[in-house]
Amino acid sequence: MDPFEDTLRRLREAFATGRTQPAKFRATQLRGLSRFLQDNKQLLLDALAQDLRKSDFESEVSEIAISQAEVTLALKNLRAWMKNERVPKNLATQLDSAFIRKEPFGLVLIIAPWNYPLNLTLVPLVGALAAGNCVVLKPSEISNSVEKVLAEVLPRYLDQSCFAVVLGGPQETGQLLEHKFDYIFFTGSPRVGRIVMTAAAKHLTPVTLELGGKNPCYIDDNCDPQTVANRVAWFRYFNAGQTCVAPDYILCSPETQERLLPALQSAITRFYGDDPQSSPNLGRIINQKHFQRLQALLGCGRIAIGGQSDESERYIAPTVLVDVQATELVMQEEIFGPILPILNVQSLDEAIDFITQREKPLALYAFSNSSQVVKRVLARTSSGGFCGNDGFMHMTLTSLPFGGVAGASGMGRYHGKFSFDTFSHHRACLLRSPRMEKVNDLRYPPHTPRNLRV
Ligand code: NAD
Repeated sequence: MDPFEDTLRRLREAFATGRTQPAKFRATQLRGLSRFLQDNKQLLLDALAQDLRKSDFESEVSEIAISQAEVTLALKNLRAWMKNERVPKNLATQLDSAFIRKEPFGLVLIIAPWNYPLNLTLVPLVGALAAGNCVVLKPSEISNSVEKVLAEVLPRYLDQSCFAVVLGGPQETGQLLEHKFDYIFFTGSPRVGRIVMTAAAKHLTPVTLELGGKNPCYIDDNCDPQTVANRVAWFRYFNAGQTCVAPDYILCSPETQERLLPALQSAITRFYGDDPQSSPNLGRIINQKHFQRLQALLGCGRIAIGGQSDESERYIAPTVLVDVQATELVMQEEIFGPILPILNVQSLDEAIDFITQREKPLALYAFSNSSQVVKRVLARTSSGGFCGNDGFMHMTLTSLPFGGVAGASGMGRYHGKFSFDTFSHHRACLLRSPRMEKVNDLRYPPHTPRNLRV
């Protein structure tokens, strides 16, 4: 017995009626989503604290407010986004109507990870609903307090004939992926991204893959160490380092490292106090498996700051590693925890070579007081997104696309209008006039030299 068959049939039938298409229906769903966020704010804050011990501030800014801002933007622009886009015409089509029509794909599947379990489920959902699709949402089973709220409460705010939350881990998701969807939007690891893409290939279903990898952070000698340290420490240790766009490692000269270490220590103490374990502002590692994985990484290089851990709480102190070799484990996998290795390079060119010899990253950061240095890193590398002199602030702009570039960073983009476009088929339409048939004579055989002169 296939546990998903009935649900998927129901959603397909609803889509076929065309009821998700009018702007009014889409706006009603988006308003429902907005009410869900408002009515259940405390429930969501509690669930996020339970799963990841996220502070209310982190949950507000990185989960609830971001999702709400996307809903508000989509509601404000829905009709404009849905409008047919007129396009230039050639001589033969002057009397016709040529336009791009934004159409929903149909039944879309959204699979989400655990690290921002609300944001990474709801932000794609906004795009899918705005574009008029029916949606199957598969939250992460690992962040299971949030999963529970999404499964039990969210459906009450949406039209259940067009929307469903399904539950499960790898096995159930594997079963789900055997079905034919019209679009699959996946956020998660490159390993599972490959599984999703392989399953999608069987049906030739289009996919967006929002994946991960190692995000380099170059720090130039020409910088103010304390400013850089504040910014780097904030975005490395936010959500206990479990952020796909967090800087994964620092590249800088040995001299800059010496200036940076006391500044990083000072930033960590300022943010989390002398005993970060007792700080309400530092999250925890999601589960034992990830805690054990991170413990192994603490053995790489030499611990310059932090390094303490407590398995009973899945606590790992904000840590900085130095004397790290590129061949060590910490440089072989995405860290996804509060550990920051520093690798030494002798020049900007060496840093650029180091970056370009590896997988294209999801995000890349460069710090320098010289805008020329920042622009040089930007020009000579490739990554999903780039931020000069700060970390992940580029992804707070709904006017910028968010996504990878290829390989482990993923493919496709979303946020703001990019989400709407991702979940819409851009249908090429030409409506020709039934008149003026004489003009077409030229294209019909038999062809003569006179035809070719035109
Ligand atoms: P994951 O790939 O393990 O899981 C993601 C989803 O896939 C979950 O819903 C899970 O149930 C499902 N899944 C797991 N194993 C599966 C399998 N064998 N078959 C089918 N489905 C399966 O990722 P995660 O551990 O939840 O999240 C961490 C990863 O996600 C990191 O690599 C991180 O960089 C990446 N990430 C990327 C972004 C982004 O926007 N690019 C955002 C957050 C996290």
